[in-house]
Amino acid sequence: MMIDLRSDTVTRPTPGMLDAMMHAKVGDDVFGEDPAINDLENYAAGLFNKEAALFCTSGTQANQIAVKAHTQPGDEVILDRLAHIYYYEGGGVAFHSGCSVCLLEGDRGRITTRQVSEHINPADDPHRPLSRLVCIENTMNKGGGAIYDFDELIAIQHVCRENGLKYHLDGARLFNAIVETGRKPAEFGNLFDSISICLSKGLGAPVGSLLLGDKDFILKARRIRKVFGGGMRQAGFLAAAGKYALLNHVDRLREDHRRARQIGDMLKKLPFVTDIVPIDTNMIFFHLDDSVPSDTFLAKLREKDIHALALSPQVVRFVTHLDITDTMLETLDKELKTL
Ligand SMILES: *Cc1c(COP(=O)(O)O)cnc(C)c1O
Repeated sequence: MMIDLRSDTVTRPTPGMLDAMMHAKVGDDVFGEDPAINDLENYAAGLFNKEAALFCTSGTQANQIAVKAHTQPGDEVILDRLAHIYYYEGGGVAFHSGCSVCLLEGDRGRITTRQVSEHINPADDPHRPLSRLVCIENTMNKGGGAIYDFDELIAIQHVCRENGLKYHLDGARLFNAIVETGRKPAEFGNLFDSISICLSKGLGAPVGSLLLGDKDFILKARRIRKVFGGGMRQAGFLAAAGKYALLNHVDRLREDHRRARQIGDMLKKLPFVTDIVPIDTNMIFFHLDDSVPSDTFLAKLREKDIHALALSPQVVRFVTHLDITDTMLETLDKELKTL
């Protein structure tokens, strides 16, 4: 039995999801004629109280389209230095949008209202790039699945409004924050100009992300998606998986969080684990002492068909997801104890 804790992207479609895919009504989405995609976009827009949505090939594509739609070349984007949009998207902000970045150092990737307001360039100073967009990530991937305090998000929105900045949420794992805090999707929809959400992370769809915004923004985004080569044809088979995920796989994220905390309890008992980053959602980041480098630790686990990722020579990441079961946790516990 393989236990794959590398990422929540490794899940396979469930029988119910495959069934939904098999029965999808599809058409040519570049002509706007794919019923399953239209249904997914309408459903998601309603859920978030946004006017419109766009089905994208990946979270990276959804974020990069958003940055492009909100900015002009030469503008500046304000975000945490570990934000996916900067750290894991191949320099796309410069490549696609010709923008500079203002990188802040947040607490586990969570930036503050004060940091944002201190880093907005005066619009009447021609020396400085024009601050245009603030990007938030919730939950924060490189912060170990950290959740933003909602009041902080409201306060940052006020700063954006006062200064004419756009406000984008990279919500690849927003539903993890939603189930943990009891906030509603619409509360986030009301706060941000645009939101991206991943269907292929914890929600367990094989492919796809959604970008949400008002009608004009999504019209612009649709054009940019075409330019980026993301106009798909009978992709309703994938959208049907995404819709199924939104209907069936949101509440169960709680189980992933419960299992992540259980793994945290197992790790606490191991003498060579020196520190565990607080487990807010489905990510477990932990530090190993010098006697056990990450590579050695991971190689030993691999022998037992248990897989994880090293974040650094002494830091390892486990991620729980749809395909991790309680039986697997029992095996993991047993194997960790005998390492
Ligand atoms: C995974 C992820 C994305 C998008 O990744 P893709 O692999 O391109 O779908 C965006 N933001 C965050 C925070 C992520 O974790």
